[in-house]
Amino acid sequence: MDKERKLLIAGNWKMNKTVAEAIDLVDGLVRELANVKEVDIVVCPPFTALHAVSKKVLDTQVRLGAQTMNENGYGAFTGEVNAGMLKEFSVRYVILGHSERRQYYAETNALIAKKALAAHAAALKPIVCVGETLAEREAGKAEAVIGTQVKGSLAGLSAAQMEETVIAYEPVWAIGTGKTATSAQAQEIHLFIRETLVQMFGESVAKKVRILYGGSVKPGNAREIMSQPDVDGALVGGAALEVRSFSDIVKNSI
Ligand code: PEP
Repeated sequence: MDKERKLLIAGNWKMNKTVAEAIDLVDGLVRELANVKEVDIVVCPPFTALHAVSKKVLDTQVRLGAQTMNENGYGAFTGEVNAGMLKEFSVRYVILGHSERRQYYAETNALIAKKALAAHAAALKPIVCVGETLAEREAGKAEAVIGTQVKGSLAGLSAAQMEETVIAYEPVWAIGTGKTATSAQAQEIHLFIRETLVQMFGESVAKKVRILYGGSVKPGNAREIMSQPDVDGALVGGAALEVRSFSDIVKNSI
């Protein structure tokens, strides 16, 4: 597929996989995807598997991501993990503001913006998630909600930091439900997000930012969605847990 921006496909393993299972999965992906140069491939295991997976992806084309991080430096924040700790495992990306973090852990746009700044300070690339609920879409508020999330979650980033930031549009109603946005619905929102970035950071920055789609991406729908001009890859949940489905998504996107 000929794209303006290099595709990025990231697997969000969520709270799944023991260390042994994580090693099996990453070994399979490294084997299956050894010759893929056209796509940036990222896996985001749980914290407990980062060390083991980091050793497996060394000198491969697979990059490592984390699923969240704390915005503070070292100190008294029981249960939390900061950017410096992730860097010890050669983590390059970190998912921020996933809808599950927003919903279950009350993450706000302002908090996500702080995390994004802390990630950049440690040279980690944030994958900032935005997306509307079904009720918001049905009330005709999808763009208003997403516009607020984009502006709030990226507040304070410099142009250079924005160029190194990835956005994931994940309609909440499509996550883990088997319902996918149509490629036209995805393109419409991705274009809206890019236009919002133009307002915030200018045209040349906005053109460089990769905007991923997430929500029930599978081998069968990956190509169609990623063929849209403003869809620059995918953030994959359920289908990232098996070697076959994740590697087929990557291969089908090329
Ligand atoms: C996600 O949670 O980031 C996601 C896109 O999940 P799924 O692919 O399972 O819908």
